[in-house]
Amino acid sequence: MKPTLVLAGLGHGQLEILDRLDEIQEHYEVRFIGGRQTVYTGAFPQVIAKLMPTATVRPPQLEPVAKRVISIDPHEQTVQTEKGSILYDQLVLATGAKSRGIGTPLKPMTQALLEQIDLSQEVIIVGGGKAGVELAFTCARTKNVTLYAKRILPEAPAHTRKQIERLLVKSGIMVVKQQIQSDESEGLLLDATGVVPVEWWAESGLAKPDRFIETDAYLRHDQFRTIYVTGDMASDLNGGVDAVRSGRYVAKRLLGETTRPFRKRQSMNILLTTSGHALLTFGRFTWHGRLPYYLKRFIDSRYVRHYN
Ligand SMILES: Cc1cc2nc3c(=O)[nH]c(=O)nc-3n(C[C@H](O)[C@H](O)[C@H](O)COP(=O)(O)OP(=O)(O)OC[C@H]3O[C@@H](n4cnc5c(N)ncnc54)[C@H](O)[C@@H]3O)c2cc1C
Repeated sequence: MKPTLVLAGLGHGQLEILDRLDEIQEHYEVRFIGGRQTVYTGAFPQVIAKLMPTATVRPPQLEPVAKRVISIDPHEQTVQTEKGSILYDQLVLATGAKSRGIGTPLKPMTQALLEQIDLSQEVIIVGGGKAGVELAFTCARTKNVTLYAKRILPEAPAHTRKQIERLLVKSGIMVVKQQIQSDESEGLLLDATGVVPVEWWAESGLAKPDRFIETDAYLRHDQFRTIYVTGDMASDLNGGVDAVRSGRYVAKRLLGETTRPFRKRQSMNILLTTSGHALLTFGRFTWHGRLPYYLKRFIDSRYVRHYN
């Protein structure tokens, strides 16, 4: 009898695993918990900017046995869902983290949120990181935008920070360099301040309260080795590129294709700025111009096409 592999959540990493479903099903009885479709975050701002018709991606067909993970008992090796308890021999977690809780959460990302943004004329974005800045630029093409951020792109070199700040203002975005007071907002308030852990992780004994999940060098839970952790849930991973890479790696592990530890790499990010332009960042290296824009559009449309 094949061991039971439970895939929980439709995060970016899980899409990579589901992409190899046929091979994986040769070795495991696979059960999937989650939705039938999800939103690809890389393309989310492009949909707002009307550069792409959709950011929704659908994995290869696998009938979900339940929609939501409620909790996990790692000792009994069971996942509690709205449909009851499911036993696993191996479990892959890809349910992502959640927004901090200011205004409307960006995470988990949904099609309904995209529609809400589309209908709003006044948008207030909190957070000056890559996601907040890209959202501000793309929303500003059709809306009035206020960006609350103590610092803009804090990890970028000073000259890039200044350049982007100038472009934000030139694009008509009101940049407020202070924290938002909760009663100040008139319009749709979007939380781009980053993600925080979800309560059920600690309640299930998978993490300390308010902490991300610790893993070993093979992306297995550091205590419960039958659980793989991908994407934002894992304390050592950060961002969508890491999420995708972690999923690819776990697929290889499940198929016995690698015995090597997961290697963390510096990842390249590209964010849309003004029309026809984007900012590429790779560590401290940055490049603003047209080529990063075309590169991003090529990468993201290829990704969305692949899953549709
Ligand atoms: C606006 C924006 C733009 C971004 N752009 C980029 C970018 O260009 N490049 C980049 O590297 N990163 C980007 N990021 C960060 C990126 O979105 C995350 O790092 C990435 O989505 C993490 O993927 P994940 O696999 O952890 O899970 P997620 O993508 O968060 O997906 C989790 C999935 O699990 C589902 N789920 C949640 N809870 C449960 C549950 N209890 N049971 C079952 N299913 C559940 C959710 O509905 C969702 O489908 C961006 C973030 C934002 C907010």
